[in-house]
Formats: sequence, C-alpha cells, structure tokens
Amino acid sequence: MSKRRFYVTTAIPYVNGDPHLGFALELVQADVLARHRRLRGEDVRFLSGTDDNSLKNVEAAEAAGQPVDEYVREKAQRFAALEGVLSLSYDDFIRTSVDPRHAPGVERLWRACAAAGDLYERDYEGLYCTGCEAFLAPGELVDGLCPEHGEPPERVAERNWFFRLSRYADRLLEEIESGRLRITPEHRRNEVLSFVRGGLADFSVSRSRERARGWGIPVPGDPSQVVYVWFDALGNYVTALDYGGGGEPYRTWWEGAGERVHVIGKGIIRFHAVYWPAILLSAGEPLPTAIFVHDYLTVDGSKLSKSAGANADPVPLAARYGVDALRWWFIRDVPRSGDVDFREELLAARANELANGLGNLVNRTIALLPPNGIAPAPPPDEAAALTAALAHLSGVIDEALADADYRAAADALWEVVTEANRFVSAARPWEADGERLDGILTVLVEACEQIAHELRPFLPDAAARIEAALGCRDPELGRSLFLKAATRA
Ligand SMILES: [Zn+2]
Repeated sequence: MSKRRFYVTTAIPYVNGDPHLGFALELVQADVLARHRRLRGEDVRFLSGTDDNSLKNVEAAEAAGQPVDEYVREKAQRFAALEGVLSLSYDDFIRTSVDPRHAPGVERLWRACAAAGDLYERDYEGLYCTGCEAFLAPGELVDGLCPEHGEPPERVAERNWFFRLSRYADRLLEEIESGRLRITPEHRRNEVLSFVRGGLADFSVSRSRERARGWGIPVPGDPSQVVYVWFDALGNYVTALDYGGGGEPYRTWWEGAGERVHVIGKGIIRFHAVYWPAILLSAGEPLPTAIFVHDYLTVDGSKLSKSAGANADPVPLAARYGVDALRWWFIRDVPRSGDVDFREELLAARANELANGLGNLVNRTIALLPPNGIAPAPPPDEAAALTAALAHLSGVIDEALADADYRAAADALWEVVTEANRFVSAARPWEADGERLDGILTVLVEACEQIAHELRPFLPDAAARIEAALGCRDPELGRSLFLKAATRA
C-alpha cells in the first residue's frame, strides 16, 4: 500500500508591505503540520508563495515610485527569505506574477468554469475595498467603513465577468455538513454555514484592464478584462501543481492526496471556504479536505495592519531571541481561537522557559553520563509518571494537530519536560551509583531522545541541537551510543 499523502498550503500574501508577525504565525503553523506528517512517515508537500497580481501591489508600487514588477520582485524576496528566518520546510514557493506554471493554470480554471456555464458578463456597480480586494455589501460596512480595514470603500461601476456562485449553495452545504470539507475551529464552520444558508450572490471575477492598470492575467478570450485577483490567487493551490499543464504533480498532490489542507487567517475565510470550493465544483475538480483558520495577533495592543516597526517584524525578533523562541511563542501562546497580543517580554519569557526547562534537562542528563556509558537497567519506581507520559506523547500530539490545536500539542510536550525534571529531582541521580544510576540514566536518555524526536516539527533547530548533543540524529543510533551493551563492572 502506498504512503499517505498530505498537501498543506499557507495563504499567499499581498506584497504591498513587509512580512509581519501575523503571517509568520501562519507559516509556522503550516510548517509544523508539514514536518509532523513527514515525521510520521507520510509523503508531504508544503506550498507557500506570494500574491503578486493585486491592485494593492500596483498602488503600493506607485506610491513608492517604482515599476510594479520591480517593486513586487523586491518585496516578494522578503517573504521568500522567511524560509531561513523561521526555519521553514516548504517544498515549493509560487510567485503568481512570474511563475510560468501560474497563468496557464488560472486560464484552465477559467475555461473549465466557462464550459460549465458558470461565467457571464454583466454591468455592475458596487463598493470596492482595495484592502480586501473585494466588493462589500452595504450591510457589511460599519459606519460606512470596511470592518477589516477601517477605510471607506470606493464606488466602482463597470462591466465584469461574474461567477454563478448562487448555483452552488446546496452542494457547498453538503460538502461542509458531511465533513468532507472540514472547517476548524467549529465556530468558523458555523460562520460559513450561516453565510451560505443566508443565500449566495454571484460575484465578479474580472476587472477592467484599465482599472487594474494592465497588471494581472488577461481573461481568456476577453483581453479588455483581467482575472479578478482572488480567482487568480486561489488558483495558486493547484497551479503550483501544474494544473495548467495537466501534469503529474496535480494528479499526485491534489487528486491523489488523502488530505488537502489550507491554513488561513480568519479575514479570508469566505474566499477559501465558499468561493474557492465553488470554483472547484464548477471546474469538476476535488475540493480541499480541510481549512484550518487562525485568528489574529495584535502587537503591543495594536492591529498588525496599523502597527509598523520592529516590534511586528519577525526578522529582528528571530535574530535577537532565536528562531526557537519565536516559534515556541507562536506554538505555545497563540490559542486555537481568539486574538492574542504579542509583546516582546513574552518572547523573552518563552526563551527562558526553553533554556531553563528543556536546556537544563538535556544538560543535566549529559553531565550525569559516565564517560564509558551506561548499561540498560530497569527504571526506578520514581519514573512511573514520566514513562507513562512518554508513552502517550506522540498520540496526544497527533490528536492535537489533527485539530490544528498547536497549543495543546505544545502543552503535552512541555508536561513531559516538566515531568522529566521532576523525576531528576525525585530520583537524585547524583547520590546514586551502580544499577540504580544506570536505571535513572536509561530513563533520562530515552526521555531526552523522545522529546527531541517529537519536538522536531515544532522547534527543528532545537531538536537538531539536542540530538547532536545526545550524540545522535537517530534514536536507535543514540541508544547504541549511550547504552553500551558492555557489562557494568
Ligand atoms: Zn477591506
């Protein structure tokens, strides 16, 4: 039987600014999922990228006095550079304005929807928020402003291509209610269901070439229009798999994956849980199997879109505190739902926690090991709680991550670290010798090895350092190095 396949993506951000902590959170969450599945022996493909074909990017380039392609290239590089800053493990990174796989894929998707009879032209007038890159219904405005961006939308009247979203309400409900398309957390699923039950209006999927300043992918057969940036951007999840070329990656990683998971922020849930699945239904392609929705970070109490400066920039924070501390903060402090406020002292606290709890455990264990190794010996009575916690650890992590509950996984890991330190204090190895000392150290070495192993998806750098310190990358090798079969004197 072939291995299970897991395809995971992040949203692709606009590049009208520098990457901030909120997107770093999303990258780390998706990276944890990808690394965790690889660790469990699954075949994994992890995709990220940048949404280049946005009007927002055009406006930002104009404000900066730069040609759009040059501006977009420079900004996109900063996003791509997060791979090193955050120790990410993506397999692919798509830039929608230059990747040769993208436009043919978007065109194929367009033609498939057109062939299904779901695209038509009509005159339209509405309120457009460039921040959202979407038309807003008057009822969605708060005091005349976009609730997400706090800006007044612009009145736009033009002839556009529309997608018959209204046709797909029943099928969307069926997909979501049956759990074939899982949306988590639960209240986000309910939010989508009530939106769909409230009735779906067709939505515009093109812009005049003029209003788009000529930036974007021309509508197939209608060069006076460019493809709406969301239709374009959502397509990246399949265009990066060579959907346009009908290639093997698409068959393997979309059609052939057991799970197709999108990790996104709450602000774009409607695009991912309604528009995107409807486009795929129209095109006759499989839907994602799950959408994991995270909430937002504020920084020192301010919304990230508003707060500028170093406190929201992951690059200097990772340089100052280390990538492990930053990842650990994301994993340990960000709840499954509810916004959370970032402050630098919280990061310092998590860095200290790692050093004092985990670093100390590993250092003590290594310091206690006699130079000629130890012989395996039965665990002392004090080890019962620790061995029980270790036995359950991987199962608890699997369950937590299946539900996108990173914090529950981190809590389980940290309970084991705490229990191991408690065991050292209770067992007092510095007063022990002979078989009792070997028994204590056998338990401790195994605990450190297992903690490092399970820590790999969360803190890959720290895990590698611990494994190197324990003299191994492979637990079996480590055991043979530390637990010499040679008999004790
Ligand atoms: Zn908006």
